[in-house]
Amino acid sequence: MRNYILAGNWKMNLNRAEAAALARAVVPVAEKVQPVEVVLGPPMTCAADVIAAVAGSCVGVAAQNCHWEAGGAFTGEVSAPMLKDAGFSHVIIGHSERRSLFGETDEGCSRKVRAALDAGLTPILCLGETLEEREAGETFKVLQTQLSGSLAGISAEDMRGVVLAYEPVWAIGTGKTATPEIAQEAHAHIRGWLVGRFGDEIGNRIQIQYGGSMKPGNAAELLSQPDVDGGLIGGASLKAESFAGILEAAPRG
Ligand code: PEP
Repeated sequence: MRNYILAGNWKMNLNRAEAAALARAVVPVAEKVQPVEVVLGPPMTCAADVIAAVAGSCVGVAAQNCHWEAGGAFTGEVSAPMLKDAGFSHVIIGHSERRSLFGETDEGCSRKVRAALDAGLTPILCLGETLEEREAGETFKVLQTQLSGSLAGISAEDMRGVVLAYEPVWAIGTGKTATPEIAQEAHAHIRGWLVGRFGDEIGNRIQIQYGGSMKPGNAAELLSQPDVDGGLIGGASLKAESFAGILEAAPRG
């Protein structure tokens, strides 16, 4: 039985006061919906405020990126051990915005997944096809390439600590949500790949989030799909009310 995991990706939004207030508002809802796992992904500038606001609660905190090296001359970068030291529990890796705007590759993602695991963080590895790829009938091929590249060198044992997020690029921030059927089809394909690569026990244990315009109004249906184990939520995670609406929609039993 897999727990649901819902994570807010705040991207480059909110100042320190807004972030702390939002985190404080999420805590009681997250406590109420346990065992659903709840994670907040603030920008770096307000991470300390958010980590302090959720301290002692069940809420995790995700960085939106990390470097694969532990330290050194990498101006502007933050390493996984630094994130762990600062109080983060998770790190989002390979978000489509990082892949498309900042040149992230599957190979770089696999190094980041390794670094996150070695530092004791839970990586949330993102994958998903563009509209062109979907229309060309290449969705499954793209997912397989991303999975094998971004998880290169990651063992079945390692996968106990990895979360995946299927995020069709055409659904991110566009208001166009994948239908529950489209989401389930992609998740089932990912699950099949995971079972083939890591075996039944591990493949069926890995949590796969859906991301792409998830909202209170569509969350319950998406989350009721057999292979959809949660959500990675952008826009709707920036307001306590809409994020709470999604958290409340997740099955708890
Ligand atoms: C995301 O950024 O991962 C995302 C899914 O954004 P949105 O919910 O706004 O589509």
